[in-house]
Amino acid sequence: MLTHVENVGSGPVDTSQSPFAPWKTMGFRDVSFKEGFWTKKQEVNGRTSLYFGYEMLVKAGNFDNLRLAAGSFQGTYHGYVFQDSDIYKWLEAVAWELGRKPNRDLTALADQAISLIAAAQLPNGYINSYVQTRESPEPWLDLENGHELYCAGHLFQAAVAFRRALGDWRLYNIACRFADHICSVFGTEKRLGTCGHPEVEMALVELYRLSGETRYLDLAKFFIDQRGQKKLKGHRSYGPEYHQDHVPVRQIREAAGHAVRQLYLASGVTDLFLETGEKALLEAMLRLSKDITGTKLYITGGVGSRFDGEAFGDPYELPADQAYCETCAAVGSFMWNWRLLLATGESRYADQMERALYNNILAAPALDGRHYFYTNPLMVRQAKDLRLSAEEPSGESSILKQRPEWHDCACCPPNVMRLFASFAHYLSTHTGEGIQIHHYASAELGCDLASGQRVKLNLTTEYPWQGKIRLEVLESGQALWAVSLRIPEWSQNPTLSINGKIIKERRLEKGYLVLERAWQARDVVELELGMEPVLVVSNPRLDAVRGCLAIQRGPIVYCLEDIDQEVKGRLLDVEIDKNRPLITRWEADLLNGVMVVEAGGQFRDVEAWCDHLYRPATFPVQGTAQPARLIAIPYYAWGNREIGGMRVWIPEKKSYDGSEPYHG
Ligand SMILES: [Zn+2]
Repeated sequence: MLTHVENVGSGPVDTSQSPFAPWKTMGFRDVSFKEGFWTKKQEVNGRTSLYFGYEMLVKAGNFDNLRLAAGSFQGTYHGYVFQDSDIYKWLEAVAWELGRKPNRDLTALADQAISLIAAAQLPNGYINSYVQTRESPEPWLDLENGHELYCAGHLFQAAVAFRRALGDWRLYNIACRFADHICSVFGTEKRLGTCGHPEVEMALVELYRLSGETRYLDLAKFFIDQRGQKKLKGHRSYGPEYHQDHVPVRQIREAAGHAVRQLYLASGVTDLFLETGEKALLEAMLRLSKDITGTKLYITGGVGSRFDGEAFGDPYELPADQAYCETCAAVGSFMWNWRLLLATGESRYADQMERALYNNILAAPALDGRHYFYTNPLMVRQAKDLRLSAEEPSGESSILKQRPEWHDCACCPPNVMRLFASFAHYLSTHTGEGIQIHHYASAELGCDLASGQRVKLNLTTEYPWQGKIRLEVLESGQALWAVSLRIPEWSQNPTLSINGKIIKERRLEKGYLVLERAWQARDVVELELGMEPVLVVSNPRLDAVRGCLAIQRGPIVYCLEDIDQEVKGRLLDVEIDKNRPLITRWEADLLNGVMVVEAGGQFRDVEAWCDHLYRPATFPVQGTAQPARLIAIPYYAWGNREIGGMRVWIPEKKSYDGSEPYHG
């Protein structure tokens, strides 16, 4: 039983009253970071990215579109039909940032944006600057590609953020008026249909959680139930999978179609389960998760391998070089796995969040916070004509020097901004009987337990660079309560001590170490997760990288960048020797401070192939390999000095005993 239930003050997701969530989300201000990895990321996000994002939105004409809709500006509409959603996502990020740290300048920018949205809203509650500025401004004409409900969803999430982080009701009132309008249009006895791009489902559930209005939950269920009727015809040559309309949600067996749409829909479906407890929904989501983690997930947490249709590929279709891996898909995976974690209490979902976060998602923004990847390949042969956006290549040959500043389709940058600003939300949960810690960062967290006692913890760690976690109890009552610590999937032989005494007898539940006792202030728990670098091999069915190894240390996946190697331009010839030790080294001045991993290997003598592309396997090719010291950096930091050769998967050096022809 929970004693203290307060909606206002949660983060992006609030399961404090969700009857089917075993784990309840914390209040947004119940967790605060202390100096460490994430405060640095949040500082760059707050000080640079959010202002930069504002500038880019101005430049791209997003605000002018709203002015145009409000009648306070003359001109033409700019950009895609979903241009409003970029503003909403940026506003959501600003709300979480202001909730974390007040800032007058950002507040002024947000005020301006909210006033514009208010001015553009029609008397009946509808708002969409693209539709309102068309010659015939009739809404809901193109559910397949119009993105009206998608944009509405992002508006609702921004509105939720302003209320929860700041107690600011302005955007919330706008959102509810729009949601009520949508309720008056869509429903079983009204207009049927759903949006080509899922998003509004999870947003409506959240609006329900905040407002208590069941009509929003009912509408989310209605939109989810509408899927799978193949009424949305697809886009270009893509089938109904593109719009997630190919199969009824409860019958989902595999991930298919547009990856971001799939994962946003899955988030909404899981949210619906958390409120209704309908088993068929959760079972479908668990099948979907099994399919993705078993056959369609990159080692970096990236998903959606195909450029064509921004889609999931076939099982094991995970090429390293032609990897689409949209940033938004990794963010979608993070958001969905959070909901699965809240629904099941199983650490495997937190593991997936971590994999996506520390690799694919962290790689999207440049370290300067002003450049963003849209696609996230695991291998780059050369930077020439590298396709890094949803947009078709311009046709002009170009060499990319760094991440693009912005994108015509700018969904990814503000998605990263809102996640970084709200990351504290995802650190921990509670049950009334205890606290669960899912992600490790230096932070203070507190919570009121069912017994009425206030508990407060101080977490200190050098994560993700070191596996040592120190937990000090700052405040506790007299009763028994438990702190549960996630043991990450990569952890090797973790050790535990309480008040200096090594604990061998451990209770492990669903991947969490459960420590229950009558905790007292100044009790200290020390957990050492064991963060040695390891070589990872892929399932042999993943044929694109068969015979290759990847370096991972803790949650961080590594890559070789050409710029770090002693011999340049030879990443295609590189081999790694698994029998040589992996050596780690902290480089404070490199890439804002990273742990570098050094491996032993060689460059194959490709000259011996005499320009042949193919030869009989029996042909004895002579050659002398050149030993090499391979320098690996975290994948997330690649492309910050120059964009050149890069690879995550490294061919394994085969030992040559003379019995086989040597294909040096
Ligand atoms: Zn995106």
